[in-house]
Amino acid sequence: MQVEYLIIGQGICGTCLSYFLQKENRFFLVIDDNQNNSSSRVAAGIINPVTGRRIVKTWMIDELLPFVETAYNELENLLGVNVISSKTIIDFFPTSQMRDAFLQREQYEPFLQLAGNEKEFEKNFNYELGFGIISPSLIVHLEKLLPSWRSHLIRSEKLIEETFDLSQLKFSDGRVRYKEIISEKIIFCDGINSLETPFFSKLPFAPNKGEALLIETEGISADHIYKKGIAMVPMQTGNIFWTGTNYLWDYDDALPTSGFRERTVHQLSQWLKVPFKVLDHRASVRPANIERRPFVGMHPVNNKVGILNGMGSKGCSLAPFFAKQLSDHLIHGTTIFPEADIMRFKKLLS
Ligand SMILES: Cc1cc2nc3c(=O)[nH]c(=O)nc-3n(C[C@H](O)[C@H](O)[C@H](O)COP(=O)(O)OP(=O)(O)OC[C@H]3O[C@@H](n4cnc5c(N)ncnc54)[C@H](O)[C@@H]3O)c2cc1C
Repeated sequence: MQVEYLIIGQGICGTCLSYFLQKENRFFLVIDDNQNNSSSRVAAGIINPVTGRRIVKTWMIDELLPFVETAYNELENLLGVNVISSKTIIDFFPTSQMRDAFLQREQYEPFLQLAGNEKEFEKNFNYELGFGIISPSLIVHLEKLLPSWRSHLIRSEKLIEETFDLSQLKFSDGRVRYKEIISEKIIFCDGINSLETPFFSKLPFAPNKGEALLIETEGISADHIYKKGIAMVPMQTGNIFWTGTNYLWDYDDALPTSGFRERTVHQLSQWLKVPFKVLDHRASVRPANIERRPFVGMHPVNNKVGILNGMGSKGCSLAPFFAKQLSDHLIHGTTIFPEADIMRFKKLLS
């Protein structure tokens, strides 16, 4: 089988890249082994326009928001499933310092609003220090998007369900060869597995583990995302909320920990006035990096090999934008933003 692009991985990066290549009528194949604890399959899917304790605007958010909304809406229309929802974030202040930071930033930041009625959520939540509102924010329904895009690829005979075996990868006559597949380029969208490939293992990845509980509760509106140290994110089914998360840089495996579960259940029992039931506990490792900027582009030594990775905790907003940049670069030779282009690591990768 002969293609132009062989993509390894169908998390949010591989999904977006294959989508933009399809839009340009390119010939590609995706190989993915559907790991159920991949980062994209464990993530909440939030796109939050502000970030950190100082509540500053997320990098590039003014450009990213309109771009990703259009891209996800297109995917929604193509696949006939609900891929994206707009929500407000109810940011219950966990400390008076956070309240002060919010009040200070609110004057300068169009994404922040003061609460109209501070008592509005008293029926279901305990909160002593009030709340602010972050809007607009988005939820990408990864639990719908990823399997629907996968089925679409399978129907079009563009997905091979298997674990990519690096020992079978060869380069000859200016082509990439993998088993019976001949391709012009190979692009790694394989999340933390890129740390294992000889091509990209030297990139400054800083993987970190994150966990979440899925809880069921009654009477809490699914119109909002709720935050108070941890976040409660409405899922599309019933009264189920994704609840998390933590950031562990020092870990032995990617499995859920009893410490996180106990801490989160304790936090929830202090925060919620309504009963809840834990349905599931998930964990994964984020393909984060030291600079907090994506890894996008072609290898400086072997230009048959590319990467779309390093999305850290912001895959849902960064992946569509940089997948389009990579697709344009591959097809039209356009430049990739220097802050994201892996050419910035030319020395390291050479
Ligand atoms: C707890 C948690 C919460 C998060 N919340 C958010 C959030 O709210 N918003 C947000 O934007 N981001 C969030 N993230 C981060 C987000 O998940 C990542 O940025 C993003 O999913 C990375 O996507 P990816 O496609 O690069 O990698 P992955 O999602 O890891 O996808 C890699 C894919 O490659 C496949 N693969 C790997 N190796 C092979 C191989 N050898 N052969 C075949 N297939 C292979 C895997 O099966 C997988 O499908 C969260 C992460 C965690 C852990």
